[in-house]
Amino acid sequence: MSGEGFAVDASLISADANKIRSIAAEDWSPEAAREAGNRAAREYLETLDDAAFGAASPVQPKFVAKSDPAAQWTRAEESRPYFAYATNYLIDTKSSVIMDVEATRAIRQAEVGAARTMLDRTEKRFGIKPDWLAADTAYGNAENLGWLVEKRSIIPFIPVIDKSVRTDGTFSRSDFEWDDKNGQYICPEGHALKQFRRNYSDPNRGQDTGGRKKYRCLKAICQACPSKEICCPKADARYVTREPHEEAREFARECRKTKAYKVSRDKRKKVEMLFAHLKRILGLTRLRLRGPNGAKDEFLLAAIAQNLRKLAKLRPRSIKQEAAA
Ligand code: SF4
Repeated sequence: MSGEGFAVDASLISADANKIRSIAAEDWSPEAAREAGNRAAREYLETLDDAAFGAASPVQPKFVAKSDPAAQWTRAEESRPYFAYATNYLIDTKSSVIMDVEATRAIRQAEVGAARTMLDRTEKRFGIKPDWLAADTAYGNAENLGWLVEKRSIIPFIPVIDKSVRTDGTFSRSDFEWDDKNGQYICPEGHALKQFRRNYSDPNRGQDTGGRKKYRCLKAICQACPSKEICCPKADARYVTREPHEEAREFARECRKTKAYKVSRDKRKKVEMLFAHLKRILGLTRLRLRGPNGAKDEFLLAAIAQNLRKLAKLRPRSIKQEAAA
């Protein structure tokens, strides 16, 4: 393994749970799981505060499977909805060796959290931290990019989730320049958009809360501006927002313009190939075991099988084989 670049992704595997034996989420409660009393229900209760399962999202799925309540009612792209768990792989992109595997609920928040868990665990276990990480847009939220860049110094070859792009012909946020020295945006007409325009006597006001920030231009300036129609045609004045970890997001955008990003995008496909191998060759399309621990065990054993196969191929050839070749 080079340890230079890693890629991360998740894939859904059907749980051993059936829609016919499920109930609507509003009729479900932890008490119902206690009454069920089976192992999968006990594990569901034990993982309610686990970021990879119960605590991943407060949003309840539409249906809950009584036989395996931790399985997520979900749908993958064009397929019909079904109960599933997600298997998450962190791989070394040079060798395609799986560095770590994690079972989670089949929702994005849990999968993004699993990527961080696996990166930390790989560093702790093997002392390996990648220079860069390749992943798809699902991993491109501000919090995750901030964690990678600011806390772990890992280059994110990840598309940024960006909702600031306007398609109606008016200025997008990218048309406004960030003035780091003065903590303000400069609009295309050269005017400042500020977050605060006065010094508050109350020290609690005007403080940086670390959340999403709004920067506004003065109404009088916008009203007299020749570009108002293509900037803020319906508002008195223009404002733009700045997300938390915007520096990390900007860094990820710059990374995307590099040649190395294109190379990483190709290498990222190796995770998808491993998932295709897992399902088509190893035949893991439906879990046999129930509960979070059942999913963990099956995903871990499958990843071990894939790694052993890979390692057998990487093994140096014997002298006899060399002579025969
Ligand atoms: S409308 Fe306001 S923010 Fe927009 S370009 Fe004109 S002065 Fe700048």
